[in-house]
Amino acid sequence: MRLRLPCPLCETPARAQAGAREWRCPACDHVVPLLPSNGSTCAACGNGELFRKKDFPHGLGMAVLVGAFLASTITYWLYAKWLTWTILIGSAAFDGLLYLWVKDVIVCYRCFAEHREVAQPERIAPFELTIHERYRQERLRRQQLQKSGQ
Ligand SMILES: [Zn+2]
Ligand SMILES: [Zn+2]
Repeated sequence: MRLRLPCPLCETPARAQAGAREWRCPACDHVVPLLPSNGSTCAACGNGELFRKKDFPHGLGMAVLVGAFLASTITYWLYAKWLTWTILIGSAAFDGLLYLWVKDVIVCYRCFAEHREVAQPERIAPFELTIHERYRQERLRRQQLQKSGQ
């Protein structure tokens, strides 16, 4: 399993070394002790609520669709009807293949640690907005407490 997490203090994301017992922030030197995990609990904070998402490079699928759309308007304008359809259908098929090909990543709702190469990722439920919202509220409350404590 590979682990990547944003620093709890300064939010700089960094990878953990394979088999490492702790994670060290490259920006502020903050250390997070790592926990043994089989992919159903978070290896950084021990939280049991995780979600599964596609490890999709951000924006790539969208870029393919936008690119295809632009190309098809040009071919449409040139009255190249078959080429237009080929581009549109081809890009949709490419997006579908990309979706099948990219692997799952398991993410912690609490600390956003990303766990890759987890065995049987389908045990983990996909993202749920209500759970995410609960953790977001918890984070806001914690930040307010920290502020009033200072
Ligand atoms: Zn940091
Ligand atoms: Zn976590």
